[in-house]
Amino acid sequence: MSCNVLAKQHIPVLDEVDVLVVGGGSAGCCAAIAAGEMGVNVGLVERYGYAGGASTQVLDTFYGFFTPGEQPMKVVGGVPDMVVDELDATGDVFLRPNTYGAGTGVTYNPERLKYVWDRLLGKAGVKTWFHAMLVDVVEESDELRGVVIWTKSGFYKIKAKRMIDASGDADLCHHAGIEYEKAGDVDPAQTMTTTFRMSHVDLGRYADAGGKKMLMDKMAEAVESGKYMLPRKKGSVHEMVQKGCIATVAVRVSDVDATDFRALSEAEKEGRKQSFLYEDFLRECVPGYEGAKIVGLAHHIGVRESRRVYGEYRLTRDDCLGGRMFEDAICLCGAPIEDHRQNAAGEDETAWAYVEGDGVYGVPYGTIVPRGSQTVWVAGRCFSATHDAHASCRSMGQTMSLGQGAGYAAVLSLVHDVDAINVDVQELRRMLYCRGAILERPIEQALVGRDEWQMNRSEFVV
Ligand SMILES: Cc1cc2nc3c(=O)[nH]c(=O)nc-3n(C[C@H](O)[C@H](O)[C@H](O)COP(=O)(O)OP(=O)(O)OC[C@H]3O[C@@H](n4cnc5c(N)ncnc54)[C@H](O)[C@@H]3O)c2cc1C
Repeated sequence: MSCNVLAKQHIPVLDEVDVLVVGGGSAGCCAAIAAGEMGVNVGLVERYGYAGGASTQVLDTFYGFFTPGEQPMKVVGGVPDMVVDELDATGDVFLRPNTYGAGTGVTYNPERLKYVWDRLLGKAGVKTWFHAMLVDVVEESDELRGVVIWTKSGFYKIKAKRMIDASGDADLCHHAGIEYEKAGDVDPAQTMTTTFRMSHVDLGRYADAGGKKMLMDKMAEAVESGKYMLPRKKGSVHEMVQKGCIATVAVRVSDVDATDFRALSEAEKEGRKQSFLYEDFLRECVPGYEGAKIVGLAHHIGVRESRRVYGEYRLTRDDCLGGRMFEDAICLCGAPIEDHRQNAAGEDETAWAYVEGDGVYGVPYGTIVPRGSQTVWVAGRCFSATHDAHASCRSMGQTMSLGQGAGYAAVLSLVHDVDAINVDVQELRRMLYCRGAILERPIEQALVGRDEWQMNRSEFVV
């Protein structure tokens, strides 16, 4: 258990809510929106000044909505669809079909998404507290009653009947003494990446010079010549919603504990250094990039994994690759295992393994319920999975779906006055199904009603 030093002091109570969501990333926002739509009193605390987590800090593409392959199936629906519909209403999203890798991506404008999260949270009646960081939990008579947040205005307690840990790093669980595995404890932790965005890339000139193959060749040449010691000779670049702007995922920072602020500080600096090394290389060596500059770095270095809570069920590699279905599935996933790591020689290596059969598996309710939990759920990348399974089930299509499931589960537990472990999962599944979630084979909803997202931009993908 946490030493609870802060909670023991006199700290004012800011509010008392039915459901408190910690962390406003893709999982936390969907959890809060789902619970708020059901009419309960929901609060959300987020340490930064806007919502979205990695969806707005680091990235611009939702993966996991579709399976990879020649005939992509849509395996995600419900609240995540609503998010994409909102982006679509202002022309801030397009589909990026891809038969390999993580499959068809839903590429969006991350700046617009910050505003979309505000609007959807507001519509669902969620009390949103930005610039508020969870630093401890409140316990009374050995029971978890809420959290302590640190803000510029001082420390506050927020009391809550139910809590959802969507902090990515399982901060609430950490302070509450809930057990977890830390990335790197058993398997090597996935590498971290500072993504960056460049403007004024001449796409015509780039394509005429050979596009993706040319870029790969130039990267290899640059490393072999010793002129640019790029950490990755592969990586991906693609056009953003903002025309002429290119998003790049290439930086690689290894062996960092994302929960140690000193290590994370060094990783941030290294990520920025590598980003500008790539800028120099691209401008000098790659046709089309001569006039390009970085216009944005990830707000926070991209952390693929940190703490993974031990839940009532732990998703495994065999579950994923074997396409296992569960009677208590709360969402589906078809994303391959995509494990970013470096090999013994220090070279970049991404290990891919695809889901067998029809390419889909189910994610059971127990993965969002910490072992024996009464009032706490986890959603998003701190859910209960082994390293390998996490490397498949961490795309935002799934983190948003897990969030929706956790939001409804918290409401059901309140309404029926039962612990998290005793929620009637079939009732939960009915709620999810009615709100558009996709839970079963055959995937009837696949591609239905989503033609409006089919605004494919001319491809610029490597
Ligand atoms: C480099 C990289 C590339 C990726 N590429 C893709 C991709 O292209 N497409 C895709 O679908 N997925 C991708 N992923 C995976 C995906 O982005 C994540 O798994 C997903 O965004 C996790 O969502 P989350 O809501 O669980 O966590 P996060 O997005 O990390 O959100 C957690 C939130 O909690 C807040 N928070 C943390 N601690 C506290 C605290 N103590 N108090 C208050 N607030 C707190 C954070 O500020 C953050 O807003 C990528 C991941 C990385 C790192």
